[in-house]
Amino acid sequence: DSLTVAELAKKLHREPSEIIKKLFMLGVMATINQVLDKDAIELIAGDYGVEVEEEIQIDVTDLEVYFTDDEAAELDERPAVVTIMGHVDHGKTTTLDSIRNTKVTAGEAGGITQHIGAYQVEENGKKITFLDTPGHAAFTTMRARGAKITDITILVVAADDGVMPQTIEAINHAKAAEVPIIVAVNKMDKESANPDRVMQELTEYGLIPEAWGGDTIFVPISAIKGEGIDNLLEMILLVSEVEEYKANPNRNAVGTVIEAQLDKGRGSVATLLVQNGTLKVGDPIVVGNTFGRVRAMVNDLGRRVKHAEPSTPVEITGLNDVPQAGDRFVVLSDEKSARQIGESRAQQALQAQRSEKTKISLDNLFEHMKQGEMKELNVVVKADVQGTAEALTTALQKIDVEGVNVRILHTGAGAINESDITLAAAFNAFVIGFNVRPDNNAKRAADAEGVDIRLHRVIYKVIEEIELAMKGMLDPEF
Ligand code: GDP
Repeated sequence: DSLTVAELAKKLHREPSEIIKKLFMLGVMATINQVLDKDAIELIAGDYGVEVEEEIQIDVTDLEVYFTDDEAAELDERPAVVTIMGHVDHGKTTTLDSIRNTKVTAGEAGGITQHIGAYQVEENGKKITFLDTPGHAAFTTMRARGAKITDITILVVAADDGVMPQTIEAINHAKAAEVPIIVAVNKMDKESANPDRVMQELTEYGLIPEAWGGDTIFVPISAIKGEGIDNLLEMILLVSEVEEYKANPNRNAVGTVIEAQLDKGRGSVATLLVQNGTLKVGDPIVVGNTFGRVRAMVNDLGRRVKHAEPSTPVEITGLNDVPQAGDRFVVLSDEKSARQIGESRAQQALQAQRSEKTKISLDNLFEHMKQGEMKELNVVVKADVQGTAEALTTALQKIDVEGVNVRILHTGAGAINESDITLAAAFNAFVIGFNVRPDNNAKRAADAEGVDIRLHRVIYKVIEEIELAMKGMLDPEF
């Protein structure tokens, strides 16, 4: 949407000198090869009574363009998609197993449960989809790749242990992704269970029970005994009713890869979560940087199915190559387009790999800001003690540079870990380590994701660095 003076003159059937004269009258000295921006073009063209029609070019190889909104009239209710997060050993796996064991067989007698990375259960005649890859790494990795798939997060907190570091991480991940949280207070069967303490501790993070004037749902459960599970599911349905999750079953399917691997006998096998539309056997499909035709579909009970409606996870075969978790998929109307788009995406991915990483680092921050790409500077802060982390956060938030805000995604005490990096990668954030270092997993992840880690020992140095970066005066050497 820019033209040179000569090009514009040609389009308007005028002499370039005339355009130059006009620009001069408007106070602009222009040469014949000067490039005019959209506003200038509109102004001049308008003067000649010509309206500028914008050419909107759709990049068909960008799978996001297929994730279009549907007319309200075409939308049907769809099941909620739920993830479970929480501190290690607080009972995420046990909760997922318990939900599955108590619910899945009820309507589907004889089904042999199959681990495909997600499953569906029924409660009061309504379905709920669970992603059974516990831990927020998977969740945030998907989010990092732009795929928002979770509707609700269940935060599992052990009643005998209370809020722990990964509980806080989970809260921050869910909040950053703007996903509602239901708290499952687990291990209620234990002698030492103290649910009041859990509720008390969580108020600090803005999760306040309804009984105390807040709007967070707390459900006491014992995952191991299967107690409270029904109640938990009912609460999920309650939130679903309020949030009204909807999709259009009558269109080509689009969605996200939950997991994928190469199977000796079956070739590329991928679990897809259908997010909109209905996926059918035989559909030509582009998945991430690969493509194919849906050969066979198997559901979470190991049954062959012919179609999968919105919010349904299915395992498919028929792809040329193995996609990655978090990849988008789209169904196209013909196989030829699927092949073309798939091949060109594979080509692009190869090129992108070769070219330099484009993650924002402090050094090129100013460039990005100039280009108007960034209005928020996202930061993850880790320090040796909680008090320092908080002091640093307060100080960072006080930095006043016009046009840029500092947004703190997460603060905590302790070494920089992999979860910090996944979160930072998801939001193009920096990680600031104050008197702490990244552990080995974090280092590896940071290298892989191109996340910028800055280590410091003096608060004002941190402030100075961030401030300079925000102002774009950062010395590239420093
Ligand atoms: P995860 O790391 O969060 O997935 O936790 P797990 O589900 O693996 O559970 C960790 C430990 O806590 C295991 O030994 C479980 O048997 C135990 N556990 C889980 N839920 C309960 C519960 O409701 N009551 C009791 N007493 N133990 C539980």
